[in-house]
Amino acid sequence: MSSKPTVPAATASGSNFIRSLIEADLASGKHKSIVTRFPPEPNGYLHVGHAKSICLNFGLARDFQGKCNLRFDDTNPEKESEEYARSIQDDVQWLGFEWNGEVRWASDYFEQLYQYAAELIKQGKAYVEDLSAEDMRVYRGTLTQPGKNSPFRDRTVAGNLDLFTRMRAGEFADGAKVLRAKIDMASPNINLRDPAIYRIRRAHHIRTGDQWCIYPMYDYTHCISDALEGITHSLCTLEFEDHRPLYDWVLDQLPVPCHPQQTEFSRLELHYTITSKRKLLQLVNDKHVSGWDDPRMPTIIGMRRRGYTPEGIREFAKRIGISKSENIVDMAVMEGAIREDMEGRVPRVMAVIHPLKVTITNYDGAQSREAGFHPNHPEFGSRMVPFSQELIIEAEDFAEVPPEGWQRLTLGGEVRLRYSYVMRCDEAVKDASGKVVELRCSIDHNTLGKNPEGRKVKGVIHFLSREHALPAEIRLYDRLFTVPEPDADKNVDFSTYLNPHSLTVVQGWVEPCVKDAPAETRYQFERLGYFCTDRHDHQPGEKQVFNRTVTLKDSWTKA
Ligand code: ATP
Ligand code: MG
Repeated sequence: MSSKPTVPAATASGSNFIRSLIEADLASGKHKSIVTRFPPEPNGYLHVGHAKSICLNFGLARDFQGKCNLRFDDTNPEKESEEYARSIQDDVQWLGFEWNGEVRWASDYFEQLYQYAAELIKQGKAYVEDLSAEDMRVYRGTLTQPGKNSPFRDRTVAGNLDLFTRMRAGEFADGAKVLRAKIDMASPNINLRDPAIYRIRRAHHIRTGDQWCIYPMYDYTHCISDALEGITHSLCTLEFEDHRPLYDWVLDQLPVPCHPQQTEFSRLELHYTITSKRKLLQLVNDKHVSGWDDPRMPTIIGMRRRGYTPEGIREFAKRIGISKSENIVDMAVMEGAIREDMEGRVPRVMAVIHPLKVTITNYDGAQSREAGFHPNHPEFGSRMVPFSQELIIEAEDFAEVPPEGWQRLTLGGEVRLRYSYVMRCDEAVKDASGKVVELRCSIDHNTLGKNPEGRKVKGVIHFLSREHALPAEIRLYDRLFTVPEPDADKNVDFSTYLNPHSLTVVQGWVEPCVKDAPAETRYQFERLGYFCTDRHDHQPGEKQVFNRTVTLKDSWTKA
């Protein structure tokens, strides 16, 4: 399953300040071509925020005929796994992008990073620290108070080199020492107050196994990895703005092949959900969802399972844009992009979610009718819409006491059955509790494919022939949280705001023509929304399982 959809050139990333910067760099000759990178840590599944970053980095590379590397930032062995790394590659490909050459790993550079650290020591710009983590914190100072120099700051180069070599050789316990860059303990930017660049950690690494017991820190690793790969534009989210001086400092000290430019943009946040791997992992671990790919999750794999299209997600990324200002977006923007993408692309069929039985009292072998799968796309083909004496309609399409302006079915009223006859409701049969359990209706035999004579029938409802309809499990999704920003309050755990009704499973019915649809097939169920056969539970020909991807109208802005 290596479908590789193409993104039209020059539209993948939309216009924004980063694009302008790149245009200027190319125009001035600073760069002949660009190289970007997407640098995830393989410590979880990617979410919609990462999709923004992927579309930006890969999109720019595509638009400017440059390259984009996929590089795993694998410097935290305890939290990282092959499963996560695998899933990230799948997600990037599924979104329709290809990385430049092989997948890269920060761990590919561990030896080089080590040598550069030794180089810093030789220049007197790094030292081995013996203070405990606790003491280091005290010495670091605060936002308003400068830090103090560590008593170990002035070790000799030879002493530092010896200790650093022995750190690597495993002579010291985890956490007993760290290597720090020697910058400025009084800097107003705390990131420059002699940041740790290596720590001792005996942890098995997914790539390097037990080869290392010291690991480089992210800030030190990232800039060097960028430089080694010849990255021209290193794009990251705004929380790294204060780290940029450190990024530049490290590269300024070392004989690296180039000095990439770091540029920050704002993180995407989506209302009614969360965009943090750590919190998403908590939802998985606490079994609030069925897994990382639960269709309610804002993960790429979750959105995929729900039925979102890569094209729709890319369109969403384009619409939300790239800037430095806050990027909190309403779910309606995502759903709008998904809906619009599917509108002209997926076949339309009928399904019933809440069935109500209809008996046609004047049935005399009435006919089935051929109907196209899409009003604007005859090339999608057609199928027969079966008709028989017993039908099922949507319970909500009947009202005994209709509200004003009602155009659907009511006692004595007529509607058009989609692709079929005009039908009048003559009687509502109720059970002991007074609930309507069956409608007895009659059809106008003269209305198959033509208007009735002498009267207008405005309402059209969808229906299924009961004997032909296929049972289907239909999963209806609602927002995962009940408030727009579930993690806004630091004192309240975000799981408090989980929506208990985010998933409703109903036994519904679908047209027989979908019977053999493979997993991940998308349909519009007329009047109900877009649905997608479930990747895991749907069995073609055997068991129909549909996920509601999105309703036909915006159901979010109402709240
Ligand atoms: P999380 O906080 O969810 O763990 P992260 O930033 O730690 O995310 P990384 O794997 O380090 O996750 O991210 C890889 C890239 O994706 C980084 O360049 C990061 O800036 C970007 N990214 C992560 N979250 C978002 C977001 N919400 N919006 C835009 N870009 C994001
Ligand atoms: Mg990160």
